[in-house]
Amino acid sequence: MVSVSILASGSRGNCTIISSSRTRILVDAGLSGRETFRRMQMVGESPHSLSAIVVSHEHSDHVTGLCTLAKKLRIPVYMTGPTHDAYERAELEPEQEGPKIERCEHFRSGHGFQIGDITVMPFTIPHDAADPVAFTFRAEGIKIGVVTDLGYMAANVAQHIRGCDLLMIESNHDLEMLRIGPYPWSVKQRVMSRLGHLSHDALADFFRSEYDGGAAFVVLAHLSEHNNHPQIARTAAERALSDRRSLLHNRLMLASQLQPLEPLRF
Ligand SMILES: [Zn+2]
Ligand SMILES: [Zn+2]
Repeated sequence: MVSVSILASGSRGNCTIISSSRTRILVDAGLSGRETFRRMQMVGESPHSLSAIVVSHEHSDHVTGLCTLAKKLRIPVYMTGPTHDAYERAELEPEQEGPKIERCEHFRSGHGFQIGDITVMPFTIPHDAADPVAFTFRAEGIKIGVVTDLGYMAANVAQHIRGCDLLMIESNHDLEMLRIGPYPWSVKQRVMSRLGHLSHDALADFFRSEYDGGAAFVVLAHLSEHNNHPQIARTAAERALSDRRSLLHNRLMLASQLQPLEPLRF
């Protein structure tokens, strides 16, 4: 059985568990160690059953709990070399010596690798980090896509997420809410830029044009708390999906910052 538990999604912390019957991977560690454990318990997962942590990029909402979790659980961390460097630079206290993470495996964007019986495929996303990636995971004939933190739907991304049975995808902001919202102009510009975050409109365009419609679950993720509203995100996605009748069987869900989503199982 393959299952996906989204513990948290959004700019205050991202953390998702992908499990096969034999392997459990934590995708990003953007909650504190304690909060990660608490939320794992809520969805019936034991932290000590985790096999590894994979990291998409070094922004704090994806790595806050990384060091604590890797140490406490004594499991390897997988990330790209440039992401590792950027993480070490950001985290290292001046007086501290040696690496923060003891068991780190480097992967390269576009090169798949294996953790237990799960095949992980990292691919480059347009975002303002050192070497940001999104992932697909394959096990037991099921393909899962975890794709957030991208400024636009790049061609390589659309290609990699073809054939997903579950697609967790960013629906970050409503352009109008962002425009009139509280952020300073420089931050608004960053969010809207080609290296920022994916808007409803951009996602709707993808649903209307390139999306193959094969996912049993589509999970809208990394919703902005200031420039978005769950109902607006849902409506925008539903509208785009219902324009193509064949997609009506896709079950649409919303990932939350505040609480875990019920585990989605195959
Ligand atoms: Zn993020
Ligand atoms: Zn980011």
